[in-house]
Amino acid sequence: MSGPSVFLPGSTIGVMGSGQLGRMFAIAARRMGYRVHTFSPERDTPTGQVADVEICASYEDEGAVRAFAKGVDVLTFEFENVPVQSVEWAAEQCVVRPSGRVLHVCQHRLREKEFLQASGLPLPAFAPVTSEAHLRAAVERLGIPSVLKTAAFGYDGKGQRKITAESDLAEVWSSFAGQAAVLEAWVPFEREVSVLVARGVDGSTATYPVCENSHANHVLDLTLVPARISEFAAREACALAVQAAVALDLTGLLAVEMFLLPGDRLLVNELAPRPHNSGHFSFDASVTSQFEQQLRAVCGLPLGSTELLRPTAMANLLGDVWGDGEPDWAAAAALPEVKIHLYGKAAPRPGRKMGHLVALGATLEKAQEQVQEARRRLRRQP
Ligand code: AMP
Repeated sequence: MSGPSVFLPGSTIGVMGSGQLGRMFAIAARRMGYRVHTFSPERDTPTGQVADVEICASYEDEGAVRAFAKGVDVLTFEFENVPVQSVEWAAEQCVVRPSGRVLHVCQHRLREKEFLQASGLPLPAFAPVTSEAHLRAAVERLGIPSVLKTAAFGYDGKGQRKITAESDLAEVWSSFAGQAAVLEAWVPFEREVSVLVARGVDGSTATYPVCENSHANHVLDLTLVPARISEFAAREACALAVQAAVALDLTGLLAVEMFLLPGDRLLVNELAPRPHNSGHFSFDASVTSQFEQQLRAVCGLPLGSTELLRPTAMANLLGDVWGDGEPDWAAAAALPEVKIHLYGKAAPRPGRKMGHLVALGATLEKAQEQVQEARRRLRRQP
């Protein structure tokens, strides 16, 4: 629906999805005097706990989606895998930002890669795979090692298999159970980085300093900002992120994950048209957090400053931290430069994102040391 392009404080924002990204978005929005409604198939969710209204219904429930959209002024997302059909129902009732087209591109790995390629962005060599014969031909072309990823609905390394020998192919393909997939050339990267870029209704853009990310078991473990990369690479990374946002004609926030190769060469790995785990540092360490920036962008307000206040490090807290009992929060809080964020999730299952820690420091090394020390202190000694 085309409606007013600016939504001022007092307006109601709808959020599709109800996890921690929506929770931190809702905190930022409520701080600025907006009302927040959230929609997902679950109850007592991280977002619902801080929103004004929590609707629990299926994304396929047309009546519920339309009623939800009717009750808000502008609708946005905290995860990109909302069915496009539901976004279309919503868009007939209220303004939706980013658009369903952006979600359509970003919720399917093959579409996303074809879009990036057509937009002139650099990315690892890839090939679509829909059969074992395809896979054999693709491995012949892209070489070993390579990595097979499901085309749809993959995140945090889910639905991925590294191919290290030709003898693996039949078994790897059968583990995909006929799902469409993409084979990607293995990238011998030096670092993994990401850039958050916001794009306003008027086409203005703002990028955050580049994040340097390290993963454990395919899940983000630690983010350092600013990334320890050359000024040239940082400028290039920001330029690529802006290029992607413009090519998508995005209104909102986009996270662009990239691989940095020797010689300052960058390849785009993945897009996420929403706040991103690697941007959590910004809640404590930036003039404008990624969540407030998403709010400003989707509400048609001017974008805020992305200036970093101090070097910063963010460490994720997965359910594993609860392995020896309730973490020792007081011990971590005894480090005065460390901020504790918890998402209100009841069950700390291994691998589940339960919260994160952020440390600001006089130097990046100091921030990293503090955040890692805080995480160590949480584990009770047996
Ligand atoms: P993704 O879900 O595609 O972001 O992949 C999760 C993680 O797997 C990435 O952050 C990388 O650490 C690793 N990875 C994915 N694709 C590749 C690749 N083509 N080459 C090397 N490592 C990769």
